[in-house]
Amino acid sequence: MKPVLFNFTDAQLLEFITNMGQPKFRARQIRDWLNRGAPNFESMKNLPITLRHDLDLVAETLPVHVVKKLESSDGQTTKFLLELGDGEQIECVLMRTSYGNSVCVSSQAGCAMGCKFCASTLLGLKRNLTVNEIYSQILVAQWELRNDMTSPRPIRPNGDANNGDVSHIVVMGTGEPLQNVDNVIGFIERANSDMGIGWRKITVSTCGIVPGIQQLTSWGRPINLAISLHAPTDELRSRIMPINNKYHLNDVLNAAFEFSELHNRQLMIEYILLAVPGENGDPELLNCTSEHAEKLSDLLRGKNCMVNLIPWNTVNERDFISPSGNAVHRFQDILIKNGIHTRIRRERGNDIGSACGQLRLNNAKG
Ligand code: SAH
Repeated sequence: MKPVLFNFTDAQLLEFITNMGQPKFRARQIRDWLNRGAPNFESMKNLPITLRHDLDLVAETLPVHVVKKLESSDGQTTKFLLELGDGEQIECVLMRTSYGNSVCVSSQAGCAMGCKFCASTLLGLKRNLTVNEIYSQILVAQWELRNDMTSPRPIRPNGDANNGDVSHIVVMGTGEPLQNVDNVIGFIERANSDMGIGWRKITVSTCGIVPGIQQLTSWGRPINLAISLHAPTDELRSRIMPINNKYHLNDVLNAAFEFSELHNRQLMIEYILLAVPGENGDPELLNCTSEHAEKLSDLLRGKNCMVNLIPWNTVNERDFISPSGNAVHRFQDILIKNGIHTRIRRERGNDIGSACGQLRLNNAKG
């Protein structure tokens, strides 16, 4: 395997470059390109063409490279299928929104959590990603924003035609970030220090690993925390999210509110609305009847949180149905009546299989 220059320290990079008979300042130039996310040596325009060619023979730039890039039809969402050095594949998604450019990164190749509605977990967990592998996903998005030649790209929702920089990060791609918590923390520290992305513009989403949440609390940075709740009772939650057998709903919420209250942040609650095929063929609501809405309200009443209602993105291998818009609104109305902040998540990039691990899964199936 060729060495990945992004993984080198400055001293290692200098040694590598001088061993190639190059002057020292080339190492600095290459580092600048790597920090900007240059996907290949060809794009390092201030290096002599012969050096670019020589480097290409002996080294890689980043620890990830793009194998597929899909654009949503509205031009606002770009999804990348990335390959790692050992051939594992991960996904990351760039979303151009009215408040900035948000990147959704993966924290693991695959996932061990086994949630019944999710595509990412179908092939199990392959391995944790390194700090550099997580960070490189941001670089891929940043490079895309700065070098994207799609012209004209549709005017962004805020009317700004300029692509700008990555401004927000959500650790909500494939994998359970709190099973890889040290590397996720390392990644966030780096995104903050090297890319200047504020703590408050970074969100980590978890299915509820209590010790991991506690580690975030003692780490002490005021990032946003999102809990994938998806059910208001232990009985139902354990059925659709096996992790609930280990960390029960109340313990998860207590740990999460301890985190968010420490930082005076709003806790984000993710709640996918699921139905199953009923006996007469009609969808039967699984976790979103009015009774569920009342129970969810009881759990959250008086707390500083926002419930994100997420229409389920169809995963062919999974036997759920997305409830009708009416059912979603009925559920939301009850939460609102009970004083719970709630919104319905806009679906982005549905037409490019942007939902949670679908691209990787479909590619693995060939
Ligand atoms: N493991 C972490 C982060 C990755 S999943 C977690 O569980 O939070 C990111 C979010 O997408 C979670 O809320 C997850 O439950 C949700 N999700 C998974 N599959 C989905 C699907 N098919 N449709 C809609 N949301 C899905």
